[in-house]
Amino acid sequence: MNIERAMASIRTVNKIEAIEGKDRIELAFFGLWQTIIKKGELKVGDLAVYFEIDSWIPTAIAPFLQKGERIKTFNNIDGNKLKSMKLGGVLSQGLALPLSILPEGNYEEGQDVTTLLGVQKWEKAIPVQLRGQVRSMTLPAGVRRTDQERIQNISAKTYEEYKNYTWEVTEKLHGSSCTFYLSAEGDFHVCSRNIDLKETAENTYWQVARKLKIEEKMREFDLFGYVLQGELCGPGINGNQYGLTEPEFFLFDVSVASPEEGMAYYRPSCHRLDLAAFVLRVLHSPVTNTAFRLPDNQSDLLQYTEGTSILNSSNREGLVFKCIERPDLSFKVVSNSWLLGAGED
Ligand code: AMP
Ligand code: MN
Repeated sequence: MNIERAMASIRTVNKIEAIEGKDRIELAFFGLWQTIIKKGELKVGDLAVYFEIDSWIPTAIAPFLQKGERIKTFNNIDGNKLKSMKLGGVLSQGLALPLSILPEGNYEEGQDVTTLLGVQKWEKAIPVQLRGQVRSMTLPAGVRRTDQERIQNISAKTYEEYKNYTWEVTEKLHGSSCTFYLSAEGDFHVCSRNIDLKETAENTYWQVARKLKIEEKMREFDLFGYVLQGELCGPGINGNQYGLTEPEFFLFDVSVASPEEGMAYYRPSCHRLDLAAFVLRVLHSPVTNTAFRLPDNQSDLLQYTEGTSILNSSNREGLVFKCIERPDLSFKVVSNSWLLGAGED
């Protein structure tokens, strides 16, 4: 499942709540997202433009986000990044603005207005030792990106369906996405989130691949066509909140590439755990539950996700839920306290 995240979309306000002691602002709810708005600017049932956290918002659309003198730019656009924050003691995520900020036209619930408004998904600059040299700017054909849908973007209807299934729950590790792929023709690839990397001595992804003898093992065990995906964590990688002393790979997905159909097929999680432990002899991302049933209320998953990392008791980034019966289904829940704390920068 490749997800192009709609950073800005048209959504309906489903609840408004007063904030104690504040008379100029209030809380607007869009499904599981809550965000502070100017009092009276929106009411229940109104359509609004909702911008998700990690949106890079051009200053031209929301000049009031600009604090102080320093102009910040991302991909040459002046603007600001939306974070999770606490205002007046309440959680506020993203930004909601009335439809009047849009060019005249007809807009409907769910419509993606990201491009129309020039909004981008903000991504952190990649450190030098991870960047490496490019073999190709895209992932090999048939290999999917490791993106996960956010619980907040799963509709109530889809969630009802999801309740019929059993889920494997793994800890969401905060490192860097890493893909190893041995094509059917025998080409071995090492990729970061978006890029197919050339082998160089300085590149951390390749160093780990070589140290773990991934290519040899994939050939030895006839894993032609297989895609192994996991999180690379360690010194210099995204803050190394687990305090690792050297880079480690934590497997979280195994699939079979299908270049013709442009999609990878998944293998059930039981195979994946066995493959990690007995065949590849690599670490697996911590499994917190092997047969989880979803709670009645979708929003309860946010509380459920709060907790400490199995690796070192730091505040965990979140959990990833993978469907046992339907290996193509999965989603992530990122901990709100992690987003508010040191986790996000
Ligand atoms: P995000 O980085 O917030 O867009 O979340 C998606 C990313 O989480 C994926 O691209 C993976 O690199 C990463 N991730 C970390 N741990 C896991 C896990 N246990 N299962 C799946 N993805 C994970
Ligand atoms: Mn991440």
